[in-house]
Amino acid sequence: MIKENVEKILVELPTSIELVAAVKGRTISEVEEAVKAGVTIIGENYIKEAEDKFKVFGSKVKWHLIGHLQKNKVKKAVQIFDMIETVDSWELAEAVDKECKKIDKIMGVLIEVNIAQEFQKNGVLPEDVEALTLDILKLSNLKLKGLMTMGPLVKDSQDIRPFFKETKDIFEKIKLSLPSLNSQDWRYLSMGMSDTYRIAIEEGANIIRIGRGIFGKR
Ligand SMILES: *Cc1c(COP(=O)(O)O)cnc(C)c1O
Repeated sequence: MIKENVEKILVELPTSIELVAAVKGRTISEVEEAVKAGVTIIGENYIKEAEDKFKVFGSKVKWHLIGHLQKNKVKKAVQIFDMIETVDSWELAEAVDKECKKIDKIMGVLIEVNIAQEFQKNGVLPEDVEALTLDILKLSNLKLKGLMTMGPLVKDSQDIRPFFKETKDIFEKIKLSLPSLNSQDWRYLSMGMSDTYRIAIEEGANIIRIGRGIFGKR
C-alpha cells in the first residue's frame, strides 16, 4: 500500500511542490518502501528516531526536522538535518547557528508559526514573525527559507483554510517588507498534512508533510 500511496500523491503534485514523508513511529522497512516509491525527503519529529533512520538512509534522502527541537538536542540535529522547519525562538536559532559554525554547515530553516495562537502549541505568534525573521538574517550559518505551520486541529478540514491563508499573507508581507531577504532563499511555505494538503496547496503551500496518507493509520 505504501508504494501505491506515494505514487498516487506524486503524480498529483506539481513539480514545484515538495513532498515530505512524515515518518514518526514508522519502521525502517516502511520508510524504505516509501523511498523506493519515490520519496526524497524524510520528515522526522524526534532526534533519536532520526539517528536510527539516518544510519540506514544517510544522504540518499534529504532530512527535515518537523518536530519541536529542544536546545540540548541541537548538536545532534545539525549533524543530521538539511532543514529545520520548526525554529520558533531567537534562543533556538542562535543555538543552531552556533553548532552549525562548529561543523562548517549552513542550515536551511523555516520559522514555525503558531497561526491560531493556541497557547499549548509551539511556534511564533503571527505578530512576532517579522521580528524573528530580521534577527535570524543576522546569523551567518542559517539560511532562512520561509514559514511552516501546523494549523489548528479542526473537525472539518475546510475550517483550516483561513489559517493557511493567513500564513501565506504573512509570508508575502515579509517578502515585500524586507528587501534584505533574498527572494531566492525566501521561497518555502510548509503547510498541510494528510487531510489538508490539497487545501494547503490551493493556499500556496510548496512543502506538504504527509504521514498517514502514505503509511496508513498510526
Ligand atoms: C505527524 C506530522 C505530520 C503528518 O501528519 P499526518 O496527519 O499523519 O499526515 C505533518 N507535520 C507534522 C509536524 C507532524 O508531526
